[in-house]
Amino acid sequence: MKRRDFLKLSAATAGATLIPVHMIQAQEEHLSPEDPQAKALKYVEDSEIEGQHCNNCIHAKGDLEAEWVGCNLFPNKQVKGSGWCSVWAARG
Ligand code: SF4
Repeated sequence: MKRRDFLKLSAATAGATLIPVHMIQAQEEHLSPEDPQAKALKYVEDSEIEGQHCNNCIHAKGDLEAEWVGCNLFPNKQVKGSGWCSVWAARG
């Protein structure tokens, strides 16, 4: 392999490794209650219904003890563990 080809390959590889880092950061973005889908589902960051929170909802995923958790309804976002929306369902 020529030196110039090696440098091109190295540059391409370096660029490729940056893409997953950006994707990971996007996955950690917090869901805003102002998000149109969040509004449609009446999502709030602090549930007003006793015993119903994102961190005990069947749609939550990840570390359910964390302040922010994943949600199957909002891919690439995190919802507040103390939050709630209209499709909350108890974990089995
Ligand atoms: S589906 Fe469950 S975890 Fe997701 S926002 Fe609604 S209540 Fe929270």
